[in-house]
Amino acid sequence: MTVATVEIDTLIVGAGQAGVAMSEHLSKLGVPHLVLERNRIAERWRTGRWDSLVANGPAWHDRFPGMEFDDLSPDGFAPKERVADYFEAYARQFNAPIRTGVDVKKVQRNVGRPGFTVETSEGIIQARRVVAATGPFQRPVIPPIAPQNLALTQIHSADYRNPQQLPAGGVLVVGAGSSGVQIADELRRAGRDVYLSVGQHDRPPRAYRGRDFCWWLGVLGEWDAAAMKPGREHVTIAVSGAHGGRTVDFRELAQQGMTLVGLTQAFDGAVVSFQPDLVDNLKRGDDNYLALLDAADAYIERNGLDLPPEPAARRVFADAPCISQPLQQLNLLEAGVTSIIWATGFATDYSWLAVDAFDANGKPAHQRGVSTEPGVYFLGLPWQSRRGSSFIWGVWHDAKYIADQIAIQRQYAAYHCDAAQRQAKAVEQLTVSA
Ligand SMILES: Cc1cc2nc3c(=O)[nH]c(=O)nc-3n(C[C@H](O)[C@H](O)[C@H](O)COP(=O)(O)OP(=O)(O)OC[C@H]3O[C@@H](n4cnc5c(N)ncnc54)[C@H](O)[C@@H]3O)c2cc1C
Repeated sequence: MTVATVEIDTLIVGAGQAGVAMSEHLSKLGVPHLVLERNRIAERWRTGRWDSLVANGPAWHDRFPGMEFDDLSPDGFAPKERVADYFEAYARQFNAPIRTGVDVKKVQRNVGRPGFTVETSEGIIQARRVVAATGPFQRPVIPPIAPQNLALTQIHSADYRNPQQLPAGGVLVVGAGSSGVQIADELRRAGRDVYLSVGQHDRPPRAYRGRDFCWWLGVLGEWDAAAMKPGREHVTIAVSGAHGGRTVDFRELAQQGMTLVGLTQAFDGAVVSFQPDLVDNLKRGDDNYLALLDAADAYIERNGLDLPPEPAARRVFADAPCISQPLQQLNLLEAGVTSIIWATGFATDYSWLAVDAFDANGKPAHQRGVSTEPGVYFLGLPWQSRRGSSFIWGVWHDAKYIADQIAIQRQYAAYHCDAAQRQAKAVEQLTVSA
């Protein structure tokens, strides 16, 4: 396929869930558009994640409003391939104009005329508007403390697939958000010695009093929180849909044989040191967990709901030795650790977007996705408009907003034309009556 010399009103870059949602809303508003995807639709769900991953939210929640997972129980958790299939089917449902296998290499504002010149692997496109829907998690980040000359396997969680991929031996997993904790648990179940480095985290109950945490965050308005609370930039969320969906309880994992350690601080040869913050981090995670139970109880009482009490949810596992006497240092070679998995998050990469839409730190400068460069929009950013923005259901609502903004701009652009026609008609009428 070649896209040489194409002209289009709105170009969407990326056909993950964000690009598909954007296309749906623009289609509904009759805005001519094209989606370019360098791989396949929802590629990151297919090949960018580990084999056993299932959605973190249940099928009734982690989807778009326009289609259900017809082959899954609403309370089940879709395997990652199923999530990718879902978005492919969703795009087919409204004939989304998606071209796959096309890489967008550069976007530049035109000089002296509206729109942008877009360089792609298949030719040049002229677009009046560009929506960057390239994802919240584009470039794996490994912190600079990672040892350079240690004879260990080191990979980012984005490159982890399954336990067999790693050499025999123990594993240090750095980072205990949803990815780190799920990978660590999988490795422990596969019989590995696992050290899990735990930083600050939230850990909602998987379900409480018969309702999934996704439901609780919804009714309590937490998905809609407009901005991250100050000082919580490094607080990750530890949830899992694996094994039918279970609450992440670090104390339980320690009881099962996982060695928990504090935040990874530094490496000196084979010796890694940890911050003395494990107990504090676990306590804050517990406080967050209990606060959600309290808020849920209060909500049930206020609304007179008939949901079964669940006192067992407040049970606290006894501290395993790794918690009561946390390790400050570990000699990885002596401990038989042969791999480190860095579950330390992602950064964005907008090197292809050569426009004035970034702040001094290179981050998108925008309001609810409308950037400082007129005609350029972002979609799928974490906290773009609310806490739910980078998640499946949240991005659909942000896409709706951006589509509205695009439609509004198109109306302004069309006004001149209407005005000129009205003026011509008025002159015509005057001439006739004269
Ligand atoms: C391990 C993991 C598990 C997650 N689980 C859940 C979950 O259970 N529920 C949930 O709601 N959210 C989950 N998320 C968060 C979020 O839903 C996903 O990250 C999702 O993939 C984001 O979708 P997106 O469309 O914004 O970006 P992506 O899926 O990353 O899609 C962006 C697309 O843009 C394409 N692209 C990038 N640059 C270019 C270019 N220059 N030219 C052409 N194409 C380009 C890429 O190939 C890619 O296909 C998870 C995230 C991770 C990392």
